Amino acid sequence: MADNTEAKNPENDNTERKGLNFVEQAVYDDLQAGKNGGRLNTRFPPEPNGYLHIGHAKAICMDFGVAEKFGGTCNLRFDDTNPVKEDVEYVDAIRDDIHWLGFDWGDREYYASDYFPKLYDLAIRLIKEGKAYVDDQTSEEIAAQKGTPTTPGTESPYRNRSVEENLDLFERMNAGEFDEGSRVLRAKIDMSSDNMHFRDPIMYRIIKTPHHRTGTKWKVYPMYDFAHGQSDYFEGVTHSICTLEFVPHRPLYDYFVDELADETYRPRQIEFNRLNLTYTVMSKRKLLALVKEGLVAGWDDPRMPTVCGLRRRGYTPAAVRKFIDTIGYTKYEALNSVSLLEHAVRDDLNRIATRAMAVLNPVKVVITNYPEDKVETVSMDNNPEQENAGTHRMPFSREIYIEREDFMENPPKKFFRLAPGNEVRLKGAYIIKCTEAIKDADGNITEIHCTYDPDTHSGAPGAARKVKGTLHWVSAAHAVDAEVRLYDRLFNVENPAAETERDFREMLNPDSLKVLQGVKVEPFIAENAKPGTKFQFQRIGYFTPDLDSTPEHLVFNRTIALKDTWEKVQNKG
Ligand code: ATP
Ligand code: MG
Repeated sequence: MADNTEAKNPENDNTERKGLNFVEQAVYDDLQAGKNGGRLNTRFPPEPNGYLHIGHAKAICMDFGVAEKFGGTCNLRFDDTNPVKEDVEYVDAIRDDIHWLGFDWGDREYYASDYFPKLYDLAIRLIKEGKAYVDDQTSEEIAAQKGTPTTPGTESPYRNRSVEENLDLFERMNAGEFDEGSRVLRAKIDMSSDNMHFRDPIMYRIIKTPHHRTGTKWKVYPMYDFAHGQSDYFEGVTHSICTLEFVPHRPLYDYFVDELADETYRPRQIEFNRLNLTYTVMSKRKLLALVKEGLVAGWDDPRMPTVCGLRRRGYTPAAVRKFIDTIGYTKYEALNSVSLLEHAVRDDLNRIATRAMAVLNPVKVVITNYPEDKVETVSMDNNPEQENAGTHRMPFSREIYIEREDFMENPPKKFFRLAPGNEVRLKGAYIIKCTEAIKDADGNITEIHCTYDPDTHSGAPGAARKVKGTLHWVSAAHAVDAEVRLYDRLFNVENPAAETERDFREMLNPDSLKVLQGVKVEPFIAENAKPGTKFQFQRIGYFTPDLDSTPEHLVFNRTIALKDTWEKVQNKG
């Protein structure tokens, strides 16, 4: 179909069109064809019943992105049609998260609940036209009559009620006269339709829980299918872009829109594949359970796939957007590797993170030939990936900390780090040689003694002298204590959603969080531990101060290790 349009429009700039994804092409073609007066208006329609996750970010990038690309606008519409599960807490969080991702809806913030009066009027009209009826059956009875895709459904015994009776009952449903679940309003379409969604879909149900915006005004609430298309129409939305599970809903979307639209304007639904990530659950129901059951620390726990979780963990909006761009938009469901997301995060952090030194698992090194009271400062590059990132000073003294893993008493052949008799360079400072390992009564190493070569600091004649290993370190007297939280994947099963026989809680990775105390960070890190700062702790990974961090008790989240350790594990297996 797209190709025909091109053939009919020889003036189309074909090269421009070819660089677009299929949704953008459809939008492009509609604009070229002058549909809706050449207007482009998309919408992002979250239900405020949970926090946004990275799947929503994919939808946001599409909805806002396509509008940006073609000079249109994108509405933020809260799809608040179910007061039982919704809350203003979620509304506020959703706004923050969209802004963080870098998008803005200006003054176009709408609520499906704003359309309750219009939707109600439409329902009344459909009743009057014999296109809707009140059904007194329970939802179980209605479900039992639905039939199957190959066998027709059964008509409700209430299907042929008079218009007067339907009007009376529907008004009384909304007045609160009947119990929840005792009656629904259904569209009278076709119980033997090939499309199950056409088998007299439910339009309205009774809910008595107060709504966070409309209070107790309404006792009947529209179902998704009776609200979404019409809300798009009322708002002037031209392209209603959603995920593939709505493909079978599209004819019903069009059916209800037909009740309103004319030839000058009608919204069009287009579907793309949802984002599914390995080692991740994306269902809001499951994410809510993790929060409610205390299996994570909250919606913004850095292990959560929520936008606020990723933010707290230290992911950047640029990395999230780059990842979404990389996986693209298709018409087929897929499972994307979380490694791709992590790759995008490393890439961006490598570009922007400030290099500094921290020792996670410290052991003390005493440089026995270095004067006791002497302190020098050495210069460290803040970021070799950037031209003007500058340097900072780091103190050096007789006692320093290095990582315990960087020392071995009886090293294997290719161990190029510190060992008795071995030389290593301390990054940015001197070459040291290990003379002795001091142990306690149990044989644990408590201190390592070394000598340094004074001729090997930067600028000295021996600065160029090569040794095989370079270690990170911090000056013991100057280092600041910190807590570090090491995060790993929340689930240890590649596709938790596919394991339908197992409870998703059983698939949680028991090692998804390790807390380290007594981490030693250089003073520069402590001085710059403001929220949002991105560090590369040299040789270890990317870290950011956590929300819990205070000057008295520094807390850092590991955003991601320098290398993908999971890939290694998988390749071995
Ligand atoms: P539910 O409707 O079950 O509460 P939902 O994830 O569909 O959950 P919504 O708030 O309705 O939540 O979603 C808002 C928009 O985000 C919808 O247009 C939906 O298609 C899109 N969306 C949700 N999950 C994903 C995903 N994993 N990938 C891409 N888009 C998604
Ligand atoms: Mg939804």
